[in-house]
Amino acid sequence: MERTLVIIKPDALSKKIVGKVITTFEQKDFKIVAFKMVLVSREKAEEFYQEHKGKEFYEPLVNFMSSNPCLVMVLEGENATQKIRDIAGNTDPQKAEEGTLRELYAQDNRHNILHAADSLKSAEREVKFFFSENEIHHWEGKIYKK
Ligand code: GDP
Ligand code: MG
Repeated sequence: MERTLVIIKPDALSKKIVGKVITTFEQKDFKIVAFKMVLVSREKAEEFYQEHKGKEFYEPLVNFMSSNPCLVMVLEGENATQKIRDIAGNTDPQKAEEGTLRELYAQDNRHNILHAADSLKSAEREVKFFFSENEIHHWEGKIYKK
């Protein structure tokens, strides 16, 4: 099973759509194996987004991501990285495909409600960036009636 990293960004908390985002992943059968609330420091945000250093949106992005808490999680499922990128939609909500989370809920291409790792290599790095191995849980859910 593949594991990937998702960050629910500060704008999603402000807009109180956290439940909708998580429900979407649950309904698509992804399993939450790690979850926490983090106020990302400026330094951590800079390091996390180092690939974008020098771009015009880098500074405002770092400011935004360290302005208020995020919810960080590891999701597990078949082909998780690609599928979750697809569910998230294009970075720019104006270009995002209909029904994607960003098309539905994002305001603009900075305030776009979530981050999702873009490759297996990024997923591995990003999971490690936020979680130690003992914070990632391996559990088999019993299926309960409603
Ligand atoms: P992602 O992988 O879809 O999140 O997009 P990128 O890795 O290209 O960019 C990282 C984040 O930087 C995005 O999610 C946005 O929050 C922000 N960002 C990217 N491109 C732009 C842009 O052109 N303008 C602004 N304001 N923000 C951007
Ligand atoms: Mg990216």
